[in-house]
Amino acid sequence: MLLPFSVSAVDRGSRARSGLITTAHGAVRTPAFMAVGTRATVTGLDPADLLAVGAQVLLANTYHLLLRPGPELFRRVGGIHAFMGWSGPVLTDSGGYQIFSLAADRTLSERGAHFKSYVDQRVHLLSPERSIEIQSAIGADIMMVLDECVDSRSDEAMTRAAMERTHRWALRSLAARTNPAQALFAIVQGGVHPTLRRESAAFLTAHPFDGFALGGLAVGDTRAEREDITQASTEWLPSARPRYLMGVGTPPDLLHAMLAGIDMFDCVLPTHLAWQGTAFTSTGRVKVSRGSCAAADVPLDLSCTCATCQRFTRAYLHHLFKCSEPLGPRLLSIHNLHHYLTLMAEARAAIEAGSYAAYAAAKLEAIDRHEHSGRRFKLGGVAVE
Ligand SMILES: [Zn+2]
Repeated sequence: MLLPFSVSAVDRGSRARSGLITTAHGAVRTPAFMAVGTRATVTGLDPADLLAVGAQVLLANTYHLLLRPGPELFRRVGGIHAFMGWSGPVLTDSGGYQIFSLAADRTLSERGAHFKSYVDQRVHLLSPERSIEIQSAIGADIMMVLDECVDSRSDEAMTRAAMERTHRWALRSLAARTNPAQALFAIVQGGVHPTLRRESAAFLTAHPFDGFALGGLAVGDTRAEREDITQASTEWLPSARPRYLMGVGTPPDLLHAMLAGIDMFDCVLPTHLAWQGTAFTSTGRVKVSRGSCAAADVPLDLSCTCATCQRFTRAYLHHLFKCSEPLGPRLLSIHNLHHYLTLMAEARAAIEAGSYAAYAAAKLEAIDRHEHSGRRFKLGGVAVE
């Protein structure tokens, strides 16, 4: 049986849709943003914090968890939910992206990727079968196939070869799955070449995957290329299955991708920027270490209802960052995730009301104005000032 997924509303003025995914550890309202907990932790936050900011589902990473603590530990304790004290849904990335971007001394072959561990220098093989075995041990509600990523600027022949290998690996992953309660998503590749993307979508959607992801974006491509590929690809994916745009992105990226009908997102940006002292606010990004925050006895964001904005001033956050106190990044992470998850909740409500296109246009215009970029954006193919 495929992962239960139902579409509850489609926007009147765009392809945006809202729906519900029901996993073994609970339901996820879509469109959903997944908080990134690469190493079985969203850095600095515990599961109570995550529930308080409205997190529905976490993303953990197979590559990092393979190296430490290792799949044996997950088998012993009964999976990631018990281990980290999170009872909600978890999706695991397969490790394909990390093999591409992080692994030293890696060699790729049809079998898989051999690479050296950054923990103990041992050599590991991450094959499609091994990735599924590790994700099974982790106890992911949604697993991802191992894919071969290439830089978006790679030539068409190289991009095609990686795409075709990704297809073969996807079928091996499907065959390796032992527990049907753990859903498995395929990953559409093909770089920034629409013909390859179309071919990849056609190949993968002919097989019984629970959902379909767009991979290999935000790896050297421009924002315009990313938006065009996302827009086109969603048309080639079945409407009855969840669509997941991997590793993207900023609030405008999410607003655009939802217009195209994307259901799931993940990105390190809200937590990553929090650790660098940058907050997303309703009036643009704020760097709290700047001198202008030193005497600001106001919340980070006057219109935010998060625990950080309810209790602390910009001046206090500025002080924490100046002293390198770990509470600073923690409070900013709470705020930034709350900001992202509130955006998603607003988007879902707008889709249900049939007014998402207008909501997205107004939101994009406001973000543009605050960020002073002044760039034009496309809405459903129409350029808007
Ligand atoms: Zn806040």
